Amino acid sequence: MAEPTQTLVDSRRPQIYPTLEPAEIERLRRFGEVRSYAAGEALATVGGVDHGLAIILAGHVDVVRRDPWDRRWPIVTHSPGSIMGELAQLAGRPALVDAYAQGAVEALTIPPERLRALMVAEAELGERIMRALILRRVGLIQAGAGGPVIIGRAGNGDVLRLDGFLSRNGHPHQSLDAETDAEAKALIERFHIDPGQLPIVLCPGGQLLRNPSEGELARCIGLVGPVDPKRLYDVAIVGAGPAGLAAGVYAASEGLSVLMLDGRAFGGQAGASARIENYLGFPTGITGMALMARAYTQAQKFGVEMAIPDEARTLQGTEDDGRFILALATGERVSARSVIIASGARYRRIAAANLASFEATSVHYWASPLEGKLCAGQEVVLVGGGNSAGQAVVYLASQVAKVWLLVRGSRLESSMSRYLVDRIAGLANVELATEAQISGLEGSDGMLQAVRWRRGGEEIRRDVRHLFLFIGAEPNTDWLAGSGVALDNKGFVLTGADAVSDRRLLETSRGGVFAIGDVRAGSVKRVAAAVGEGAQVVAALHAFLAKTPARLPPLSG
Ligand SMILES: Cc1cc2nc3c(=O)[nH]c(=O)nc-3n(C[C@H](O)[C@H](O)[C@H](O)COP(=O)(O)OP(=O)(O)OC[C@H]3O[C@@H](n4cnc5c(N)ncnc54)[C@H](O)[C@@H]3O)c2cc1C
Repeated sequence: MAEPTQTLVDSRRPQIYPTLEPAEIERLRRFGEVRSYAAGEALATVGGVDHGLAIILAGHVDVVRRDPWDRRWPIVTHSPGSIMGELAQLAGRPALVDAYAQGAVEALTIPPERLRALMVAEAELGERIMRALILRRVGLIQAGAGGPVIIGRAGNGDVLRLDGFLSRNGHPHQSLDAETDAEAKALIERFHIDPGQLPIVLCPGGQLLRNPSEGELARCIGLVGPVDPKRLYDVAIVGAGPAGLAAGVYAASEGLSVLMLDGRAFGGQAGASARIENYLGFPTGITGMALMARAYTQAQKFGVEMAIPDEARTLQGTEDDGRFILALATGERVSARSVIIASGARYRRIAAANLASFEATSVHYWASPLEGKLCAGQEVVLVGGGNSAGQAVVYLASQVAKVWLLVRGSRLESSMSRYLVDRIAGLANVELATEAQISGLEGSDGMLQAVRWRRGGEEIRRDVRHLFLFIGAEPNTDWLAGSGVALDNKGFVLTGADAVSDRRLLETSRGGVFAIGDVRAGSVKRVAAAVGEGAQVVAALHAFLAKTPARLPPLSG
């Protein structure tokens, strides 16, 4: 196993490992407790939840990572004034690395809830600490250090699934190719693994999982813990996309207790966006993952409890009960005085088996100037007959050599506004193919090389590197069946006066249940709009909570 790369650590060492002045440490004493450690004693153990962040007062602490052979690799040695910890300590999650006292050590330990109070009360110091914790996590991710090891064949669907899950959740991990990596082969032998049982995952705590589900893996590495069934949260937010994360940040920063659930990963659709160019304040654009990872850390800083991956299956209870119950896919139950539905939508995809392999580079659900530039001077295919497809065609036609517009129906007029139909008709470089359906995608290494479609009895093939899909979005509202939350005819959640005449803005037909972001009928399907609704809903939430009883007897059973 190679030494982890040190690029980030080298370039940003003073920010990753700041040393606090004695006067600064004095100011932090009120947030923690002084503890003594004997030589060799552990301050943190991989997989264990420790006392929290530790400010070293006396002595030295070695931080090391362990590999699957129990070999130890030094990361850093902390001296007096140093801070020991990373993002796991902010959220009270299991440690990713070991830390041992070199000799006798005295440290000020700050538990997660006090650390969050520190961040708020000591803004400048809090910012320095937060930056160090984030950069340390990024360093671990870059080095693939301190997390589980996936062993399987490179390119195997389950390896990609597990790798994608950990990446989307910002968790360090390493993937070893079972066919070419000598250490992977040795591990397979050591654990007597049949090739048919691959991929396997070795968790940092030593457990071995055979081709686990995302939920099993998340539980093994402590990414998600059990939900306390007796706890009554002020609000449960379903969905950790931009809308849910924004609502979490505003609600928790205003003192509400918040549980946030997401069935997959934080970030939602935005987390999958290669580059967001139109979010205010980022003139050079930002990757969706970078934007969402910041929001996720920010929500944790304000004390939002995360249950990811945990999927909501049903919603029960009423405003009059003063308690809503979410039943989760794990069989657990969450109780909350109010609920925010932020479960978003998913773009419809075509049924081509290899579609996913081209999605990072060649398949687009969006036609912004970025895509325009990417496809400039080329031939592209666009599928869809609605107005958003029409607008995209008009824009792309000004950038590319030719647009093939494929629609399933026999007439564009039946699904698109007249003005767009007329404009498209006037564009010489747009060719409309009605009653057409994609029959195949060709390419390699994630790059599309040709698209085939069927029209009548004929199959047409064009050398095309970019495919645009504008075939609509489906709301993630199946889990609301039987909840009494009113939906529109496409399944999006109705809010405000569209739901019931005297409803608050963003409140659904069920009092105390709110909906924001892409899942809401009539919302603008953009990151900024989702974030705005997340901020706005908190005012309505306060108004609702002010009139419902704050304390209820715990649930029995
Ligand atoms: C490829 C792509 C590129 C985009 N680019 C841009 C762009 O450049 N600029 C822009 O403004 N917008 C862009 N968008 C649109 C933007 O991402 C969305 O408008 C935005 O993410 C909507 O946020 P949301 O929080 O409402 O929902 P989502 O982002 O859809 O998040 C919803 C979350 O809820 C979770 N969830 C669903 N059901 C459940 C359940 N039952 N239990 C628990 N969790 C559940 C999902 O896993 C998901 O994480 C893009 C979208 C895509 C797909």
